Amino acid sequence: MSRIIPKKKLGQHFLQDQDVVDRTVAAANLSSSDVVLEIGPGPGILTKTLLKSPIKKLYSLEIDPQFFSRLKPLESEYPDRFQLIMSDALQFPLSKLDEPKIKIIANLPYNIGTTLIIRWLGELNKITSMTLMVQKEVAERIAGAPSTKSYGSLSILCQIKCEVQKLFDVPPQAFNPPPQVMSSVLQLVPKDQTLSDEELTNLENLTQLVFQQRRKMIRVSLKQLNIENLESLLEKNGFNPMDRPEDLSIEQFVRLSRLFEKSVS
Ligand code: SAH
Repeated sequence: MSRIIPKKKLGQHFLQDQDVVDRTVAAANLSSSDVVLEIGPGPGILTKTLLKSPIKKLYSLEIDPQFFSRLKPLESEYPDRFQLIMSDALQFPLSKLDEPKIKIIANLPYNIGTTLIIRWLGELNKITSMTLMVQKEVAERIAGAPSTKSYGSLSILCQIKCEVQKLFDVPPQAFNPPPQVMSSVLQLVPKDQTLSDEELTNLENLTQLVFQQRRKMIRVSLKQLNIENLESLLEKNGFNPMDRPEDLSIEQFVRLSRLFEKSVS
């Protein structure tokens, strides 16, 4: 079989540590009724481990044709259980899969990881869980807690919709070629949604607005909304106008976006 030439622009860092692969798959807690979607199988270390697990079906989505001849034979090795889809994950709505629910498991191409996750947040009705290898810094931003430097609008966007857990870190040597940065396995499990679509949009607008100026107090960044008596309104509703965005919990952001719904919508 021809030698693999890693393509940097496709974020190709191939896992070579079977233990890391096994721990990632174990975290997804698979059962024989699960349908799994893998993004970027590459040479297939995760793919093969998934196929040995008790799953109903695996779809693997790969953009790079150099892997076609390596992965295609798995379809006849695992008839009805494996389907290779040669496609760009960024152009692939989950609705294309004729399956009610899927688990996503992937060592994501890091350059598009955040974009994919944000997109899947809009398709959570199709998703049971996402178990994803991403850059550690991205995992920390997604799982970020208030009052930490990783906490921001991405943390809030993800945590309002999902239970988020950073499971374990993975060093560069687990990959070939090794990336420049540490990686982490992250898990997101959709929550029952209590906010309406409109409330979610308002929350998103508000968090983006204040985190654009994350060193500023909220009484300063919220001035853009042109609200009369802003400070007293904040105080009356139990907010400290001197707080900076990272001091506010997600619940406080929800209350704040409801308070200012007319101005942020
Ligand atoms: N899962 C493999 C490879 C991870 S590297 C392993 O762990 O060893 C990332 C993989 O994603 C590569 O195979 C790359 O070709 C693929 N990829 C990159 N961009 C993609 C895209 N837009 N859509 C689908 N696959 C993509």
